[in-house]
Parts: sequence; structure tokens; C-alpha cells
Amino acid sequence: MTAIQASCMEFNQSPVLENYNTFLSDAALLAALSREGAAWAADELAAYGALTGRSEFIRLGFQANEHPPRLSTHDAKGRRVDLVEYHPAYHELLGGAIRHGLHARPWTDKRAGSHVARAAFNYLQAQVEAGHGCPLTMTFAAIPTLRKQSDLAAIWEPLVTAREYDPRNVPATEKSGVSMGMAMTERQGGSDVRANTTRAIRLKSSGAGECYVVNGHKYFVSAPMSDAFLMLAQAPGGLSCFLLPRWRDDGTKNGIELQQLKRKMGNVSNASAEVKLDDAHAWLVGDEGRGVANILEMVALTRFDCMVASAAGMRQAAAQATHHAAYRQTFGKRLDRHPLMQNVLADLALESEAALALSMRAARALDHLADDSEAALFRLLTPIGKYWICKRAPAHAYEAMECLGGSGAIETSIMPRLYREAPINAIWEGSGNIQCLDLFRAIQRQPDALDVVAAELKGAAGLNDDYDRHCRNLDKALANAARGNDAGVSTYEGRRLTESLALGLQASLLLCSDNALIADAFCRARLSSGVSGLFGTLPRGIPCAAIIDRARPPLTAD
Ligand SMILES: Cc1cc2nc3c(=O)[nH]c(=O)nc-3n(C[C@H](O)[C@H](O)[C@H](O)COP(=O)(O)OP(=O)(O)OC[C@H]3O[C@@H](n4cnc5c(N)ncnc54)[C@H](O)[C@@H]3O)c2cc1C
Repeated sequence: MTAIQASCMEFNQSPVLENYNTFLSDAALLAALSREGAAWAADELAAYGALTGRSEFIRLGFQANEHPPRLSTHDAKGRRVDLVEYHPAYHELLGGAIRHGLHARPWTDKRAGSHVARAAFNYLQAQVEAGHGCPLTMTFAAIPTLRKQSDLAAIWEPLVTAREYDPRNVPATEKSGVSMGMAMTERQGGSDVRANTTRAIRLKSSGAGECYVVNGHKYFVSAPMSDAFLMLAQAPGGLSCFLLPRWRDDGTKNGIELQQLKRKMGNVSNASAEVKLDDAHAWLVGDEGRGVANILEMVALTRFDCMVASAAGMRQAAAQATHHAAYRQTFGKRLDRHPLMQNVLADLALESEAALALSMRAARALDHLADDSEAALFRLLTPIGKYWICKRAPAHAYEAMECLGGSGAIETSIMPRLYREAPINAIWEGSGNIQCLDLFRAIQRQPDALDVVAAELKGAAGLNDDYDRHCRNLDKALANAARGNDAGVSTYEGRRLTESLALGLQASLLLCSDNALIADAFCRARLSSGVSGLFGTLPRGIPCAAIIDRARPPLTAD
């Protein structure tokens, strides 16, 4: 028996979950990687999983949150500097992720499955710390919008995709790698960006790729030390998308004033600023008036990353809960041998695996956007997955925390941080209702988009009775939704429809995977009649012990 095991037995506490391989110990991830076409990345992911499971790496996540970023607006002589300083742990996390290409892999690695592979890397990284994931995601997601303006892309894309992290506050021309942010939200409107009042007027000439002068205010700008931001502003031709660099072409500071950093309930390691734009120079991306359409290319990818990050949070929560319950004894036996606790743990594990399956299917669609049906599927999977996975995460984190009892509420464990991170993904990048409205819009604009969902669901037809019944009901609801108000359907029912689609898709993915035990349990747990929304209410007959075993990291205390 090791010293750690002995001390755990003495105090009846679980050892800290560290120094394990977060990839190799995740059976659901290994299966999803192969299923979705990126098995070739397994060796590299195994090395990365060894890194992200190390105690020193996990510690970085704690340090980055214990020492939040600080804003200096002016220097000692009263000049504006607008400088945010982060703890070295934040730089180590973000810099390390960039050096491993988590911000850019699919843009530089043309192998089929590179989006799936990147999602898997991100999934491992996000389990350790969520805040630095924000600039990582925005840098990754900026590329499709940047490509709308080829002259700007020619300058910026090589810098954005470089595996170089350079946090210095100097012009991009002096760097060999840059990071990107996004500035859409204003005080008077976040979801409704058409209410933006920030104004852009031409500097010399107007038109795509030209420089404009921007004045206004942005209410939420995360990662404000990014080298450039994609932003929305009202140009003479309507709401338009711009590239706003931190520095002007002549090497002087651009008119970006950080007024304050928000005090947030989660995502604490990441700075989110209120920003005044004072004669800032910004370059028009695409045509005037096409701002929303152009920036939505970026937003689709940040929404996708929200799915992956929330699924990662669930994985970490389920790993922590199953790990703890294997060591803790109550009333004379292991916590995970008590039937009611087995019900809770197995339910958390099922939710986590289903969230991962849906995220990785979306990643495969992203890998094959040249195929019209995969593009149509990705269009629908984004709002469905962003809505459902992000909505499930807070309750999941809370329930996992409770599995650890009082220790789950203590800040030296990761559980409070997982809990505080969970609602953030649901709110930003389009809150829950906005995802449901987006789904309705997509269906009503292009009713045949539903054919790709139907084809996806058909793959599992006949494999499970609960699933077949769910699909029959879903068919009717979707047909009505596509007809919209003609069928008396209003967006009032948007959440029900989106949830129903998410559950159907998760079930079909699990049914088509090679683990019948998980698939059948999921269908019974989520699709059979009379199921409750709370975790730990699985119906009788679910093989909980086997599900828990699959989810739990290896039982080693050394
Ligand atoms: C930590 C954090 C970081 C952020 N970072 C950034 C950033 O870097 N860049 C950026 O641009 N933004 C950022 N945001 C802003 C975020 O994207 C917005 O807060 C979000 O989109 C919601 O906008 P809002 O706050 O204006 O709320 P509102 O638009 O006022 O919405 C309030 C609520 O009403 C619902 N709602 C709105 N319209 C409807 C409708 N028609 N029907 C039904 N329900 C509706 C929404 O779903 C939401 O629940 C950040 C937010 C947070 C919390």
C-alpha cells in the first residue's frame, strides 16, 4: 500500500485526482475519436492527456483563477496604457495550448478529421481550466470570417494560425503569432446586435478591406489584450463587420480604451472589459451591411466550442465524482456501492458521454463542410448542441459537487470552479432562447435541412423501442415547426423542440456506437415515459455499476 492510499484509508478521504492520463482513462472519448474519424490522432492525444492530468498542470488552473487579471488604465505619468496583466499560470496555459495548435489545427492540418482531433485536444484542455479557453476559441473561430476579406486574411491568417504565443503589448507587425477577440455586445443589446450604435465612417475610401474610423462603446469584450478583434459597427451601408487591431498601422496605440474589467461569477482567469472606442481604426471585412452574416461564421465556431467546453466540464465533474465515491466509505461500505448513489453517478456519466457524442458528431460535420448535407447538419447541430449541452452543465456540475459532500464545496477542489463556469457557456455566444430561435429560423428558412436530421436519426431506427417512439413524436413536431405559424406553432415551444431533437440525436449516436449498454441505458433514462429532469432518477434495471466503472479514472492513488 502506498503512503497516499494509507492516508486516504486513515481519513476516509479520496486522494486528489491527479497524475493520470485524461485521454487514455476516458473510454467515451477514445470511442468517439474513432467513430468520428480521427483515430490517427490517438498517440498525440495520449501524450497530451498525460500532460493535462499532471498535478503541476492542474495547479496552473487553480493559480490562474486565484490571481485574476488586473487592469491598468494609465501609466505613472498619466498616459493611457489600457493594459491587462495576467498571472504567469494563465500565460502558461494559453501559451502551451497555442504551441500545441489548439487554436488552429484544422486550418493548418488538412487531414480528414482534424476538427475532431482538435475538439478532443480542447476537451482535455478545458477540463483543467476554462478561462483561457475563451481567447483560444476566439482565435480559432476568427479564421472563416477573416477569409471573407482575402487581403486582410493574407496578412492576418499566417499570424493567427502560427503556433507562437506572444503576449507582449506591441503591434502585430512585431509578432510572429497573434490572438483574436470579438466585440459585438453593447449595453443596449447583446442578442439583438442590430441595436448596435457604434458608428464607423470611412477614413479615406469606403468599401471592403478599407480603413474606417470607429466611435462607440462595447459592453463585453473578453480577452481584451487580444491583438485584434472582429467587431460590429454601423457603417453608412448598415451593420458591418470590422477587424479592429490594438495598434494602428503607424505603430501608435489604437483608440481602444478599457474602462473597467467585469467582476464575474465564473471565468475569472479571463478578463472581460467594457471598452470605449475613440476614433479607433478598423478595417471593413466583407461588404457594408453584411456584418451579421459575416461575423456569424465566427460565432458558429465559438458556439461549437461552447458545446465542447461544457461537455469537458461534465467529463471532469463525472470523473471527480466517480473517483471520490470509489474511495469514500459511508455506513460501512464504499459510497459507489450504495444503490441510490449508483443511480446518481451513473446518470452523471450517461449525461457526460451523450454530451461528448453530440459535440464530436458536430466536429465531424465541421470536417466535411464541403458536403452539403454535412454543412446543413452542422448548421442545425450548433444551436441544438449549444442549447442542450450548455443548459445541462450547471445542474450536472452541482450534482457532481454534491457527490463529494462537504469537500465538494471547498475551493481547494475543482468542483466550485466547475460549477461557476457552467452557466457562462450557456449565456455567452447566444443565450439559451437565442439558440432555440436560431434553430426555428434555420428550419423555417430551409425546411429540407430537416432531411439531414431525419437521415441521421434513421441510422438508429429499429434499435430501441423508446428511441423509435421518440422519433415518431419528433417527426410530427418538426413538420409543424417547419410550417411555422401556418401550423399554429410558435417559438413558445422552442425549448421543448430543441431538447427533443438533442435527446434524439444523442440517443441515435449512442445507439450507432458499439456500446449497447450505454445506449440502452441512455434511451431508458432520457426517452422512456415518466422520466424526471433531475439527476439520480434513473429507472430500475440500469446497469449502474458498469456505467460507473466505464466513467471512473483508474483507481490508483500513486
Ligand atoms: C463572461 C462573459 C463574457 C462575454 N464576452 C463577450 C465578448 O467577448 N464579446 C461579446 O461581443 N460579447 C461577450 N459577452 C456578451 C454575451 O454574448 C451577451 O451577454 C449575450 O449574448 C446576451 O446578451 P445580453 O447580455 O445583451 O442579453 P439580452 O440580449 O438582453 O438577453 C437577455 C435574455 O433574454 C433572452 N432573449 C433575448 N431575446 C429574446 C427573444 N426574442 N425571445 C426570447 N428570449 C429572448 C436571451 O436568451 C437572454 O436569456 C460576454 C458575456 C459574458 C457573461
